[in-house]
Amino acid sequence: MPESTSPLLAIEGLGKIFTAGQQSIHAVQDVSLDIHRGEIVGIVGESGSGKTTFGRCVLRLTEPSQGRIEFDGVNLTHLEGAPMRNMRRRMQMIFQDPYASLNPRMTVERIIAEPLDIHQIGTVAERRARVGALLREVDLPLDSGSRYPHEFSGGQRQRIGIARALAVKPDLIVADEPVSALDVSIQAQVVNLLKDLQQRYHLTMLFISHDLNVVNFLCDRVLVMYLGRVMESGPARLISNRPAHPYTQALLSANPHLGSIKRQRITLSGDLPSPANPPSGCVFRTRCPYAQSRCAEEIPQLRQVAGENKQQVACHFFEQL
Ligand code: SF4
Repeated sequence: MPESTSPLLAIEGLGKIFTAGQQSIHAVQDVSLDIHRGEIVGIVGESGSGKTTFGRCVLRLTEPSQGRIEFDGVNLTHLEGAPMRNMRRRMQMIFQDPYASLNPRMTVERIIAEPLDIHQIGTVAERRARVGALLREVDLPLDSGSRYPHEFSGGQRQRIGIARALAVKPDLIVADEPVSALDVSIQAQVVNLLKDLQQRYHLTMLFISHDLNVVNFLCDRVLVMYLGRVMESGPARLISNRPAHPYTQALLSANPHLGSIKRQRITLSGDLPSPANPPSGCVFRTRCPYAQSRCAEEIPQLRQVAGENKQQVACHFFEQL
């Protein structure tokens, strides 16, 4: 994993509260994360875990309610106007739904060139040449530029979305469930393309997914979220081979071919509780087979796993499990 002295992205205590009438929903609570250049960090959790809100807050597509976001040494938290637009150019997003995220009335060339137009990068001829190069990068036919999104398959549309994100040569890409809307047979191709591009351009990426299988394949480090909170974080090899949190173990139990788990299988029962009314103490306790009375009373803080200074777990009892 690449290491440099200061992270490209440093997030401290990030939180997001949505209000609906009298109700406050804590979608993300107190998430801290550093990402170094060239690193891929995965955010994994079920639908409703807060991972997408977290990704949007990082780019300030959704305004965070709490915390600090620093990008390449600049505090983004309250940045506005031209300085923020300039930063936005350096941070791009790949969206989950390749059907909804591409304007059906625009040709593929216009879609891919749009970020270049917005940020006024290059001449018309240079933008056209850049689009041609990007089509090659993502393995799309060169005549794709004059066609429209509906003429392409789901996997091809996501390649268009990837080309659009790469157009301005960003420093950071946030990929929000980029393969979950695709057929399983196509998912591996797109994941492999992302891995190839990451290695070729030393991209830095925040990869959001509900699939720990994909995350462990692609990412250097993983953050496991549940009801807006971080349950566990650490290098992907540790998370897949020695998960310490019961929730991570449950996610891996759902993919038994992964890792070398010698623990009891944990099956997740029931649904995610409502974020509007989360359980007291440990938010995972209503689905945790190891829950004890302390779990209802006290929120577990992230603690380091002994001997693994990069693995952290939020569970009162993980040493005994
Ligand atoms: Fe389970 Fe308690 Fe640990 Fe939460 S703190 S994961 S409820 S054992």
